[in-house]
Amino acid sequence: MCGIFGIYGHPEAANLTYLGLHGLQHRGQESAGITSSDSRRLYTYRGMGLVVDLFDNATLGRLKGGAAIGHVRYSTAGETDVANAQPLAVRHARGQLAIAHNGNLVNAGSLRQELERNGSIFSSNVDSEVIVHLFARTTEHKIVDRIATSLARLQGAFSLLFLTERKLIAARDPLGFRPLCLGRIPLPHPGAPRRGARNGIPYEDRRRNGGEQAAGWVFASETSSFDLIGAQYMRPVDPGEIIVVDRKGLRSYHRFESPQKRFCVFEHVYFARPDSLLGFSSVYQSRRNLGRQLAKEQPADADLVIPVPDSGTTAALGFAEESRIPFEMGLIRSHYVGRTFIEPQQSIRHFGVKLKLAPVRRLIEGRRVVVVDDSLVRGTTSRKIVAMLREAGAAEIHLRISSPPVRHPCHYGIDIPTYEELIASSRDVEQTREYTGADSLGYLSIEGMLCSIDERRGVYCDACFSGSYPVPFERPLKVKPLPLLQR
Ligand code: AMP
Repeated sequence: MCGIFGIYGHPEAANLTYLGLHGLQHRGQESAGITSSDSRRLYTYRGMGLVVDLFDNATLGRLKGGAAIGHVRYSTAGETDVANAQPLAVRHARGQLAIAHNGNLVNAGSLRQELERNGSIFSSNVDSEVIVHLFARTTEHKIVDRIATSLARLQGAFSLLFLTERKLIAARDPLGFRPLCLGRIPLPHPGAPRRGARNGIPYEDRRRNGGEQAAGWVFASETSSFDLIGAQYMRPVDPGEIIVVDRKGLRSYHRFESPQKRFCVFEHVYFARPDSLLGFSSVYQSRRNLGRQLAKEQPADADLVIPVPDSGTTAALGFAEESRIPFEMGLIRSHYVGRTFIEPQQSIRHFGVKLKLAPVRRLIEGRRVVVVDDSLVRGTTSRKIVAMLREAGAAEIHLRISSPPVRHPCHYGIDIPTYEELIASSRDVEQTREYTGADSLGYLSIEGMLCSIDERRGVYCDACFSGSYPVPFERPLKVKPLPLLQR
């Protein structure tokens, strides 16, 4: 999974991209990078690790110019390697191009083979690199045509930002799997000169802007970035839309048919930050509704509702509200370790649960507890939490999950693993309960999940729960569904 950020027409473009990436750090912790432009050339800095560790004043100072794009990455396609960090920045026959991609392409393999047969040489193994090669081969004059021609070859999920010497371009796949938001950021000096230009990128001045305060354009995977930098959220980039921003302002193009939306429901369930808006719906509100609906569908007789922090907290609030069982923070999270699931090595992940969460014994001893988490993927986290709560003296443990069983891998950019690793692909609810060691286990239904999420015009991709994949994929993730375990 990844997060992307872009800005155009601001004298502090690189610094704001750095801050914007902080607001997206939850979307990927493996690598990060920024490419900027001073309208003559691009400057790139990228590497492994967290945004806070990677950049300092010196590196940010070298990223000159009034436009920039940035990326944080957690690998779902391609290896954990600095060569796969983004933005990918290249020189081609007609100039320079950098690209930041969130999502997975489902036909990257065959496109890559085709391009390699025709002489392209790849420098990474991320599927995003095929986009750069497709772009380099286009012959049209206008950038929007070149991008549209390249994107027409892609299948799967892509929210994209492109940076050239003079333009910032945003694009979203026709089904809109992954989020992408558009906003404006006021310039530091409201009285900026009418034809001002700093760092080579002209400001939009008051006159061009219809008398409003001069402002730059920003794009981000989530609005959490905008809030951090004081940008105003305007709207989501539409599925199938291409937006070009340059010195003439912003232009929107719809070059692809976008008959239906398939926004990823897992963004609401787990991935996005609760303070973000997805489309125009609040993630916090969605999660609270998921918890309320869960309490209706899977009630439990208990003394306390405790969340698995942080991912289960908002749903647990909703569960407590609906069930009228008191909410308590029975598990305390250490904020000095990262998300354990994100850590790619299995051995560290197991250890991580213990590092990350500690039970509040006085609260739990002798009590019947409802433990609410957002999802059960491999089941390893819940199993350890249940064991931990038993050790802390819980009388009964009722595990409640504010999403349906995850039965199928994701091909569109969320790290939901192979069938073998997904506990619910081969175990029914009772077998999963047994595995976790809980006294009872209850999941939310697919219908309950969808009706809890307030995206008015929304239609979702729920393939990880339903197995109904909106775009066929050419390369199955290792294997086919497994039969249920026999008792
Ligand atoms: P487990 O069942 O042990 O695989 O862990 C499930 C927990 O990991 C859930 O409670 C989520 O908070 C978190 N999680 C679920 N899906 C993902 C994902 N794709 N990437 C990172 N963390 C996830």
